Amino acid sequence: MCSAEFFDVRDATTEPLHAQYQYIAVGGGTARCALATTLSEQYKVLLLERGGTPYGNPRIERVEGWSDLLVDDPRNPSETRFYSRASAAQVRAAGWKPSRVAEAYRWVEKKIVHPGSHGVWQTALQDSLLQTGVTPNNGLNNDHIYGTKVGGSLFDKQGRRDSAADFLSYANDKLLTVLTFANVQRIIFDNSGKIYHVEIIYSKTQPGALGSPQLLLLSGIGSCEHLAEFNITCHVELNAVGADMVDNPKNAIVVLSPTPVETSLLSVVGIDKEFIIEGGSGSNFSWQLPGMGQLNYVAPSQRTPDFVASAFILTKLYDPISYGSLRLNSTDINRNPYVKFNYYSHPRDIEYCISGVKRFYKLLRAPAFQPFRFTTVTSLVASIYYQLKEGESTEGAYLPDVSNYTETAEWCRTTLTTIWHFHGGCTVGKVVDKSYRVFGTRPLRVVDGSTFTKSPGTNPQATVMMLGRYVGVKILKERRITPKAANTTN
Ligand SMILES: Cc1cc2nc3c(=O)[nH]c(=O)nc-3n(C[C@H](O)[C@H](O)[C@H](O)COP(=O)(O)OP(=O)(O)OC[C@H]3O[C@@H](n4cnc5c(N)ncnc54)[C@H](O)[C@@H]3O)c2cc1C
Repeated sequence: MCSAEFFDVRDATTEPLHAQYQYIAVGGGTARCALATTLSEQYKVLLLERGGTPYGNPRIERVEGWSDLLVDDPRNPSETRFYSRASAAQVRAAGWKPSRVAEAYRWVEKKIVHPGSHGVWQTALQDSLLQTGVTPNNGLNNDHIYGTKVGGSLFDKQGRRDSAADFLSYANDKLLTVLTFANVQRIIFDNSGKIYHVEIIYSKTQPGALGSPQLLLLSGIGSCEHLAEFNITCHVELNAVGADMVDNPKNAIVVLSPTPVETSLLSVVGIDKEFIIEGGSGSNFSWQLPGMGQLNYVAPSQRTPDFVASAFILTKLYDPISYGSLRLNSTDINRNPYVKFNYYSHPRDIEYCISGVKRFYKLLRAPAFQPFRFTTVTSLVASIYYQLKEGESTEGAYLPDVSNYTETAEWCRTTLTTIWHFHGGCTVGKVVDKSYRVFGTRPLRVVDGSTFTKSPGTNPQATVMMLGRYVGVKILKERRITPKAANTTN
């Protein structure tokens, strides 16, 4: 575990108005903490983050706070905890060099990744997945392979969270400057298009987490027609900025347990080609997440902190093909852009959701799961799921009738929530090239989740961090073989 004292973090107001750096990284998030750390091995780097650091806040740093944060501000990247790599097929499709990818993953894992924990409830989920055919058992494993496995975690055995910000403690502190509460308004290009400036405002507000396409648009890179609506001068016409926005829908059920269950984070995962199944238990998330699956049917007055002997199982669509888009709402970086994901607009995505719902039924009936669910409605369950009668099977409390396509499709649509794995808006091949350079703007790169056309692995952060390291190493290697370029902005 690292703390802010290990590296130089300053508030944006302390810096001179004009300063020069060889690289400026906008946003100290998952990818760019890894990228800035790597580039600082040789170059003078400025990292600008609109938020603060994750240090000193027990709700971020301790495992007990993980579900509270989902409710507080679901945009905080420090809240991630589940770690799992991309599949070999995804690495090939991205055109990355597998040996360098493996090296970059190892770099990340050595610094901040721990084995996932594994209590009785997670074991029951694991056994149920195996008993219902999500095989083989891949044990403790960071790789993305079909079957059931336990992934990595950013929490250590003592329940303390590591995060991407910890990479900065491995940076060259003579060359790296980190400014917090530095909100970048736009990037300004000079006439040669080579040297550019960033304009920042000191701000403690936190706009949405879809910063890269928004910032490109505000900097005049995008559809000229759309930019004209906001009187923004079109610097580079790139219609794909903000296009291909995808979010992987999640549908979940909350399962009440007759016996107490441990507090467990997403740890066990079942991987199928259509969906991913994960679950968590024992925390008070169930009364705090009002939109979570079947909780829509729980009377709000019943969602009390006593409602804790519960767990959730979720299905996430692995590879949705329903796309949306992002557009500006305003020229103010503090105003969220307008984003539409068009969830489940493609019939294939609904089919996959229905497969996930069918899997829920199987899991609920698996022998290993029986100690952790009420099989028939008792007075406790009836008092929470107020539409039920005592003595009935509880399955109808959780799930629609899967033999009825329309009912199940409707259930998928009405109970979906985000799992915060949205991506796109600056995709490789359309907005950036394979070196992550924005087309038409040689010095500018986008290195983050907005460049993905698919969310990698079960959960993306492993690959987002890997990407930061991977691109950083690539830049260092390229510039070593072209020493003349070493002192220019690249
Ligand atoms: C609540 C939540 C829980 C999640 N849980 C998991 C999990 O368990 N496992 C997993 O693998 N993934 C998880 N994810 C997804 C994962 O966190 C993201 O995919 C990943 O963080 C994306 O990384 P990024 O580098 O693309 O963007 P971010 O990490 O969001 O980084 C962008 C950074 O840029 C900053 N920024 C943006 N615009 C500006 C600007 N104009 N000026 C200055 N700074 C700016 C932002 O403040 C942010 O720090 C979760 C996400 C959320 C929101």
